[in-house]
Amino acid sequence: MSPLRRLAVLLYSADPGLGRMLQYWAATCVLYVVCIVQMLVQVEQGISDGQAATAVIAFAAVGALSFYLMIRFGARIGLKPDQLAVSQAVFSLVCGGWAYAISGPLRAAVLLMTVVIIVFCMFAARPRQTLMLSVGTIAGMGATMWWLQAHDPAGFPPMTELLTFGYLAGALLATAVLSGEMHKLRSRLKRQRRELTEALETIRVLATVDELTSLVNRRRMHEVLEEQERRQPSGGQHGKGCCVALLDIDFFKQVNDRYGHATGDAVLRCFSQAARASLRAEDVLARWGGEEFLLLLPDASPEDARTVLERMAERVHTMPVPGLDDRCISFSAGLATRHAGEPFAEAIGRADKALYRAKEAGRDRIVLA
Ligand code: GH3
Ligand code: MG
Ligand code: MG
Repeated sequence: MSPLRRLAVLLYSADPGLGRMLQYWAATCVLYVVCIVQMLVQVEQGISDGQAATAVIAFAAVGALSFYLMIRFGARIGLKPDQLAVSQAVFSLVCGGWAYAISGPLRAAVLLMTVVIIVFCMFAARPRQTLMLSVGTIAGMGATMWWLQAHDPAGFPPMTELLTFGYLAGALLATAVLSGEMHKLRSRLKRQRRELTEALETIRVLATVDELTSLVNRRRMHEVLEEQERRQPSGGQHGKGCCVALLDIDFFKQVNDRYGHATGDAVLRCFSQAARASLRAEDVLARWGGEEFLLLLPDASPEDARTVLERMAERVHTMPVPGLDDRCISFSAGLATRHAGEPFAEAIGRADKALYRAKEAGRDRIVLA
């Protein structure tokens, strides 16, 4: 990891959820900076008190830094994201109220920021929390304005304060209601996205897995073979070669005829389980057709492949099948090596011919092409 990336991870964390929260925090800081610059201009113009402005700026800076630390490391001490968002909003609103009290004739503009803060809450707080925050802000600002006009009627004319308060209350309540609606919309979108992901996963399974045996289906196996041709154009890995085998259950029609179709299905399921248990992680077994299976052994010599198939045959001979007590299941297999650069279709063609010979020779055997 580069030093720059390490610093970014330390500051922003690798967790995307936390990263997003810190982005909101950074956006809030931009808002603070804009307000601070305006306040400094007012001080410069002589319409705001320099000492009071310095106190608000210091308070905001310490608060912003504390919130950064709380967001970045809050999960470790059990702070929830919505609690943090609401606390941060309360802090910003207190700063807003303070800035209002010291801002001179431009103070009404500061109130715009309170509306922006409530809108920000929509992303992390619940609608009820946003509403409570709006009501709390209306009460807090109402009390501040009342106190200001009572103590300094010349600087804060009562009627101006009352009308300003009316505008603020209307704007905050409307914003809270709209934030609630936006929150519902976001929740619905999130739910729909989750449902879509689940539906896509179901479709993927339906398109790639055989329903009866839970093996890879023929369609998916074609893709696996194409991927293998691309990855290993010259045959197998480690110079061992790559083998394919076609497996066909012996006298399966008799099983169906004598024991019924449901027992036939049970044989296919038990066969698939037993066969899969004999394979390595990199081997792929697919249901190729009715009671026919294609096995891909990507990193195996013909001798390795024969050993795997013999182990499989032993398991299949002894596997218990519900409803089939007195009959042993066997399969015949045609085994072929894929030559360097050869398409799998050709190797499968040779395996098919070898399977035919295995059937002709009496079944329950493995024939190498
Ligand atoms: P062989 O030893 O020569 O392979 O003979 P076989 O009886 O196994 O082969 P055959 O091709 O004559 O019969 C295969 C049977 O498999 C016919 C078909 O009805 C049955 N079959 C195909 N798919 C399914 C399935 O999903 N479930 C069940 N129960 N039977 C199936
Ligand atoms: Mg058969
Ligand atoms: Mg068959």
